[in-house]
Amino acid sequence: MSSGRNYNFSPGPSTLPLSVLEQAAAEMVNYRGAGMSVMEMSHRSDSYISIFDEAKADLRRVLNVPETHEILFMHGGATLQFSAVPLNLLGKTGAADYAVTGSFSGLAMKEAQKYGNIHVACSSEDRNHSYIPQQSDIKPSGGASYFFYCSNNTIYGTQWKYVPETGGVPLVCDMSSDIMSEPVDVSKYGLIFAGVQKNMAPAGMAVVIIDKDLAGSEHALTPKLLSYQVMIDSDSMHNTPPCYTIYTLGLMMKWLDAQGGLEGMRKLKAEKAKLLYDAIDESEMFVGHAEKAARSDMNVTFRTSGGELDAKFVKEAEQAGFVNLKGHRSVGGMRASIYNAMPYEGVEKLAEFMRSFEKTNR
Ligand code: PMP
Repeated sequence: MSSGRNYNFSPGPSTLPLSVLEQAAAEMVNYRGAGMSVMEMSHRSDSYISIFDEAKADLRRVLNVPETHEILFMHGGATLQFSAVPLNLLGKTGAADYAVTGSFSGLAMKEAQKYGNIHVACSSEDRNHSYIPQQSDIKPSGGASYFFYCSNNTIYGTQWKYVPETGGVPLVCDMSSDIMSEPVDVSKYGLIFAGVQKNMAPAGMAVVIIDKDLAGSEHALTPKLLSYQVMIDSDSMHNTPPCYTIYTLGLMMKWLDAQGGLEGMRKLKAEKAKLLYDAIDESEMFVGHAEKAARSDMNVTFRTSGGELDAKFVKEAEQAGFVNLKGHRSVGGMRASIYNAMPYEGVEKLAEFMRSFEKTNR
């Protein structure tokens, strides 16, 4: 670790690779001889267009996005997609199915209810979202224009281990907290979206990957900036895009290449998650929130036997350089978010810290 930097386990915005930060810093004032910072460039300038095109092409390559699908950079983070999805995709039947497995899919479902007939196809609320329903638990409505789910539940620390089968109904997935952590068969999805501030870039936009056949039948009142067709036709430049965030996303794609791409990430995330889950399973003090079969390898949620001890853990961890470990209020306890850029060493040291905390606080 570079001097003064902590191990930052924040759920988002999250830690970025040091080499990416250093490159951005080195290019900050005069970008590769352009005479200005990327922040100061016109989004229509040749210099910027080449940054934009390269970032988008690299994303397409790294995630293996087929030509049937368009990549969009949209304002408003993941939350605005909770509105954009129903506004654009409810068209055909006015109805959609939602899998509610955490806070964000619940919020997405509530937003969609403003616009159409929304059916809860499955929910894990009965056990405080500590598990993921099985395929046989999913009850489709029959008339849905799309099926919505969230692949990784950032707050509860659970993750879908399979892609739901929908019998031809287009799949829409919020991948905000696990995109780019392993290869994905994009062709299975009608639409994927993700806020970028966990695994792809600093905050400021969502990446949307859409099967082009699904665009073009939005509700008449859809704001222009939320219309997938408008964004496809303007190559995400109907207005000024989040230029600097897109530039940083491009740096992140190069970094991913250097780590062995998404296969490299898949291997690394499994190793990192194992360190923490082993520490939890071997412990008599810590218990995990997520049921074992649904454990996320991005957000590890755990607690001790009591609130005071949790608070002591969080405080002492912070003093030792492990920051942002306090769990979300709806789960309590602790949450370690270990996205792509969290180094193995940071997780290894946190696991050691957990063991020594247990010894001294027995
Ligand atoms: N979906 C998921 C899975 C998330 O984790 C988050 C943010 N933590 C959101 C949606 C909302 O993202 P944003 O803040 O970009 O709107």
